[in-house]
Amino acid sequence: MNASVEKNERAPASLSVDFDNKWAYLRAAGRQDWESASSYLPIAAERMVELLGELDLPLTVFVVGRDLRCPRDTAAIDSFKALQSVEFANHSMNHLPWMHTMDREEIFAEIAGTHQAIASALGVQPRGFRGPGFSCPAEVLGVLAQLDYAYDASVFPTSVAPIARAVFLARTKLKGEQKEKAKQLYGGFAAMRNPNRPFRRPVEGGRLWEIPVTVMPLTRTPIHFSYFLFLAGVSTLAAKTYLSNALRLCRWTGTTPSLLLHPPDVLGCEDDPDMAYFPGMKMPRAEKLKLVRWALRRYAQTFHVQTMIQQVRSLDTQAKVSQPHATQALQSPYPH
Ligand SMILES: [Zn+2]
Repeated sequence: MNASVEKNERAPASLSVDFDNKWAYLRAAGRQDWESASSYLPIAAERMVELLGELDLPLTVFVVGRDLRCPRDTAAIDSFKALQSVEFANHSMNHLPWMHTMDREEIFAEIAGTHQAIASALGVQPRGFRGPGFSCPAEVLGVLAQLDYAYDASVFPTSVAPIARAVFLARTKLKGEQKEKAKQLYGGFAAMRNPNRPFRRPVEGGRLWEIPVTVMPLTRTPIHFSYFLFLAGVSTLAAKTYLSNALRLCRWTGTTPSLLLHPPDVLGCEDDPDMAYFPGMKMPRAEKLKLVRWALRRYAQTFHVQTMIQQVRSLDTQAKVSQPHATQALQSPYPH
């Protein structure tokens, strides 16, 4: 346990949403009609702004560039500016979960195209990136350094990655080449060897912070909100106990958490029958919002929740204050 984390002091943490639209889920599921899918971004944004506003929480929004071609979706994304603090970050142009199979030029187009779209539609320069499907090859990191990004957030160091990938491959209607490409989803077996806490990684032309999507310390099972809701579909008590234990373990092990929302976390079964296959999408809206509110409140009571770029700045300050000792620890690929 980190001695500097006092019992009653809230350590820094972050909250983000992968603001994936329905077409992205249908496309990954191999549905031919994905391009004509309706958008749920306006309703998801409205509910998230209301919920996070009520709890006075900040948010990093990972934006898919393609959605900024639609004025209604752009307005929905822009509405997050009503929060006390918001950061817009880059989630690629086309949400293709196989960036590890693309060449440098394609990767650059996916990332730089979205960077420009965010800058012109939302008036801000993104500094962070998360790869669709938690794919994080060296070429992506090189492009991020080239564009002067401060962090990557594509690592999901979970022990269930092989199971999640197997379930995905069994359910998807993707065929042939695309299915082959999807076999590296969730970062493969190597993902679990990644640290479960922020670390600095040297990349060509600079350095980046890597902010992994936090998993349960020790067991490495997921603790993001979709997983929490999936567990709550089985037992509310078990899900609440699981999340409380996860947050406690993060505190005890000095793990700086970064938790993740998805739009379906605020949509109920009556909102979108197309999403019925997504974990937790069989739950009615009111019940789901109550659970998410509980989980977010518990998170905010346990940690000082920030946007991801604010978390990166806190980490930079910590590293500078405690150099050289802390810097070495933060750079270690296997700190714990
Ligand atoms: Zn996504």
